[in-house]
Amino acid sequence: MTSKTNSHTWIAAAAAICLLSVGLSPGPAVAANACTAPGIHLQVLGSGGPELDDERASSGYLVWQDGRARVLVDMGAGSLLRFEQAGARIEDIEAILLTHLHVDHSADLPALVKASFFSERSTDLPVYGPTGNRRMPATGAFVQALFGDDNGAWRYLGSYLTGEEAYRLRAVDVPAEGKESQRVMDRDGLRLTAVPVHHGPIPALAWRVDIGDRALVFSGDMNGDNHTLEGLAAGADLLVAHHAIPEEARGVARNLHMPPSVIGRIAGEASVKQLVLSHRMRRTLGREAESERYIRRHYAGPLAFAEDGQCFSLPK
Ligand SMILES: [Zn+2]
Repeated sequence: MTSKTNSHTWIAAAAAICLLSVGLSPGPAVAANACTAPGIHLQVLGSGGPELDDERASSGYLVWQDGRARVLVDMGAGSLLRFEQAGARIEDIEAILLTHLHVDHSADLPALVKASFFSERSTDLPVYGPTGNRRMPATGAFVQALFGDDNGAWRYLGSYLTGEEAYRLRAVDVPAEGKESQRVMDRDGLRLTAVPVHHGPIPALAWRVDIGDRALVFSGDMNGDNHTLEGLAAGADLLVAHHAIPEEARGVARNLHMPPSVIGRIAGEASVKQLVLSHRMRRTLGREAESERYIRRHYAGPLAFAEDGQCFSLPK
């Protein structure tokens, strides 16, 4: 699938943005979201990194099934505006999966909790994310630091952790060391599995979302050194790979991120059926043809460079 195939979706999203900017209802454009059709779809909420001049929201994705956004993967800055533009409902989210706790992957969590006050949500909302180390808190400690009754930055929302609200935000720490995969949910045909990946000194996870016999995999930020994504992504219908650096990157950037050749090798070894490149940053924007050449050395399947709002449908 190419970017072109999905351009109508982005046009609809862009139309929604235009309508919003003049204060009109975005209703008709939101209704045109291809991801709300029957079937299983990936919606890119944020295709960018942390920069403010890449004209993209930071990392965020939805997995849709039959008109419901069941899983939210990452929630970087701006991704919740895209969530709103997509017409997704907080009530439908069965799990939030965080790849790691960098700002460009987690900053919109408080915004979601606040927004949920105005929703009908009444079932607990699990947030699965990595364990911590000296550089980062564990996901549970992170959520406590945000909302905890005593010292949380937004302790006025602490009732979402204690069960005093209509639902409870339930943080779960998922081991981010070693190479073992961990199944965190298996319910109603939805299976969620993580593996630790190497993202410099930061605890990080890649995620696999299985719905029935379909699978979507999210690399998160990683550099390939842990050699775990190949196994997690084996046979997946779609792999979202974070494309944050060009091939020649070295040093800190290369310790954090995988170059195009590593993305291609992993996609090829895992025999994924579709590859979506996201977390696009200024250092790779405009160099798509070059990146694709490196990827094509190892992977021959469909490949697309993600845009915010874009919808990718899995074959039925
Ligand atoms: Zn990132």
